[in-house]
Amino acid sequence: MRYLYFLAGWVVLGLVLWYVLRTVPTASPAAMVEAGEAMLRVRRVVAVVAHPDDAEYWISGTLARLVGEGARVVLVVASDGEKGHNRVGSADLASTRRAEQRAAGSVIGYSDIVFLGQPDRAAADGPNVSELIAEVLTKEQPDLVITFDGWKPSLPYLHPDHEAIGRVTVRAVEQSGRSPDIYLFHTRRPNVAVDISSVAEQKAAAFSAHASQHGGNTGEGPVRRMREAGKQYGLPPVELFRKLE
Ligand SMILES: [Zn+2]
Repeated sequence: MRYLYFLAGWVVLGLVLWYVLRTVPTASPAAMVEAGEAMLRVRRVVAVVAHPDDAEYWISGTLARLVGEGARVVLVVASDGEKGHNRVGSADLASTRRAEQRAAGSVIGYSDIVFLGQPDRAAADGPNVSELIAEVLTKEQPDLVITFDGWKPSLPYLHPDHEAIGRVTVRAVEQSGRSPDIYLFHTRRPNVAVDISSVAEQKAAAFSAHASQHGGNTGEGPVRRMREAGKQYGLPPVELFRKLE
């Protein structure tokens, strides 16, 4: 009997956790798409991620659309992802992954890619990461900053580098004395949806450049994810963000 109570307790706890932690948009689908179009009306963008391939997986559709609108898009990659997969038998995975990131970048059209050279799995832990990000912000003077949601990440996939780089980036923005719009991705409380149907092929091609991580993957994986995300809310393929107010 005691065992049954114990089991029931865990089930209830699981249900409560699932209910609290599941991804729930905080705006209507129409309002999210409208906010997505508004997000694209900027000139200077800095996106900060933890590893090569993070941007291509989650936000490269949005970044491609920003490039298409004539914005200057600079990508900051905190680590070289040297502890990731090595499906290409590279003797120097860090430089291979930088090269893959550059190749992906040329598919999307980033104006610049800044590698911070921090250790993988401690990408945001170095004493000067915040300063390095602040330097980019001072140089680029962005009106839009995009990074990981370090507070309300979507579950179940978590990576400490992701949430940490999101928090460090937002702090660096707050300390910069400027106030660009901040949009967080990989979030469980989205209120912005960017329609990426016009750039889905470009996103797939950019993601495919990361062969060391995904082998022969055609890049359809992340596009399918975005398509499913959209379908849930009756929308085209979308990338989701939480605009920080
Ligand atoms: Zn990553």
